Amino acid sequence: MKYPFVLPQLSYLYETLEPHINAKTMEIHHTKHHQVYVDKLNAAMEKWPEGQAIELEEILKNLDIVPEAIRSAVRNHGGGHYNHSLFWQMIIPPANKGFEEPQGALINAIETNFSNFVKFKELFTVTALDVFGSGWAWLVRSNNEQATGSQELKIIATPNQDTPLAQGFTPILGLDVWEHAYYLKYQNRRKEYIENWWNVVNWKWVGERLT
Ligand code: MN
Repeated sequence: MKYPFVLPQLSYLYETLEPHINAKTMEIHHTKHHQVYVDKLNAAMEKWPEGQAIELEEILKNLDIVPEAIRSAVRNHGGGHYNHSLFWQMIIPPANKGFEEPQGALINAIETNFSNFVKFKELFTVTALDVFGSGWAWLVRSNNEQATGSQELKIIATPNQDTPLAQGFTPILGLDVWEHAYYLKYQNRRKEYIENWWNVVNWKWVGERLT
């Protein structure tokens, strides 16, 4: 992803995530919220011609390279664009899902790092519930793999639109817990949103992302 940034198309229709995520939430989240991140990121990047050839991922890993005058705009809107571009791919209509749980290298890594899938889900859910205000819960891969050869996974939270990239992690799975992601259907019931979101996680994509 490079300047000029564009809103990505989704590979499914908004209503196909029903009843877990409703069509209106999807439509507003994608065409309004995500579009604003794209527009404001482009507006900021217009003021930094030297940065326009740099991949967004590289910019977000090294925010210090961004001119101070636009750094917080790039952090917030660049993070917003990056996080949401991943988020749409991390979910899938239940009808197209293929399998309900992680498979292969992904389940092996989850069991190595979190004992089992149930414990992993519990820890991820608690992390997402504990985000104060707006932010994200993430399953991330540590980029400094040790000689053991096993994948080191962690569950972390980031505030606002901060990305795991800025902390040196590669995001594998992320959950948007901003109220805009669930309020129309779930109002204040974030826990219910999280429980339902598990039903639309694209484990195939997440597994490919790990490897
Ligand atoms: Mn969002």
